[in-house]
Amino acid sequence: MSIRTAQEQPKLTAGDLDLSAIRKEFPILSSMIKGQSLVYLDNAATTQKPTVVLDAVQEYYTQQNSNIHRGVHTLSERATASYEASRETVRRFLNARSTEEIVFVRGTTEAINLVASTYGRSTVREGDEILITELEHHSNIVPWQMLCGETRATLKVVPITDEGAVNLEQFEGLLSSRTKIVAISHVSNALGTVNPIKAMVAMAHERGIPVLVDGAQAVAHVEVDVLDLDCDFYTFSGHKMYGPTGVGVLYGKASLLAGMSPYQGGGDMIKSVTFEKTTYNDLPFKFEAGTPNIAGAIGLGAALKYFEALDHKALMRHEADLLTYATEQVSAVPGVRVIGTASEKVAVLSFVIDGIHPHDIGTILDEHAVAIRTGHHCAQPVMVRYGIPATARASLAIYNTREDIDRLVAGLGRVVEVFG
Ligand code: PMP
Repeated sequence: MSIRTAQEQPKLTAGDLDLSAIRKEFPILSSMIKGQSLVYLDNAATTQKPTVVLDAVQEYYTQQNSNIHRGVHTLSERATASYEASRETVRRFLNARSTEEIVFVRGTTEAINLVASTYGRSTVREGDEILITELEHHSNIVPWQMLCGETRATLKVVPITDEGAVNLEQFEGLLSSRTKIVAISHVSNALGTVNPIKAMVAMAHERGIPVLVDGAQAVAHVEVDVLDLDCDFYTFSGHKMYGPTGVGVLYGKASLLAGMSPYQGGGDMIKSVTFEKTTYNDLPFKFEAGTPNIAGAIGLGAALKYFEALDHKALMRHEADLLTYATEQVSAVPGVRVIGTASEKVAVLSFVIDGIHPHDIGTILDEHAVAIRTGHHCAQPVMVRYGIPATARASLAIYNTREDIDRLVAGLGRVVEVFG
């Protein structure tokens, strides 16, 4: 499948980026919705997939499909090689020391649950504390809350400012000798805030506390280098990074992963099994019980290679320019209030309009083929913080254009006409 030669669109450029070439890599972007060309601004929920990813998944199923690791036949060897090559691509992408530190999981949610259920259960005791922030996604709240429920530990929460930033002094003040783990998101999905992860990790490490970073909203928008951040765990989902759904990554320092018990038992995570005793496999296989999402992991490898080949400086500049433009244009719509105005912010524009429910905003925009997300964005405590039930959220990716923002703003004009 290739649509790369089609030249029907005018050339769009943003600095050094050839946006029309990038857009042609994503077949779904040429869809018509209700008779109009699609404007996709729901990238924080999931990004679209480029042809190279779709091709990689199809190639796996048409040319390599077989189970990995155990087969001696040619197809199984090919599939194993592709799956393990993707692990190496992820290692390089995160700048991890070794592929032992890269565990394939279903996504960010599973990665955090894995750490809470293994590392968490073995280290957290009654009276201990787990520290998160007020801007976390539910998947970085609920697993810790469940662990606290089981162990009688306490969940502590660092408050955010009115702008939606984490106050570092308050963060430091909440680190104590009882804190057993810090779990923080790199970028907030509801507000777009970029947290100063490196400084937060350093503060926690001064007190010997390990840090898990939820990178679900970060990997596609900011440089991630786990050695530089020095975080102990880093998690992300393939589908928010131009890759397939159902696959994601848990990075963990080998020294920590080695001491953790398995998350699930089954095939592939063992070296030997008798009814009396099982010995577990080496890292990272100890954490990959059962047949994994082989096609997904291969597709994720293709997505990361696609992303790595882009000019990152140009890409970040493009997304930053677009966020500034979107913020200015959307703020000028009567009654709009932007939620989340931290100085360090990427790719997410959350807003409310006086007297209009966000779901009505989303429904009218859909009539104009503009896809945004409305609701609490799995961050209900953020909504409580701002005293609102929900927001409308436009979220950006590399293929979005100023024309997309203009269509959003035109749609919002219609929303105000209908409901204002
Ligand atoms: N954390 C953040 C910050 C997210 O935005 C999301 C997805 N919205 C998740 C975690 C959960 O990711 P997934 O559903 O892919 O497991």
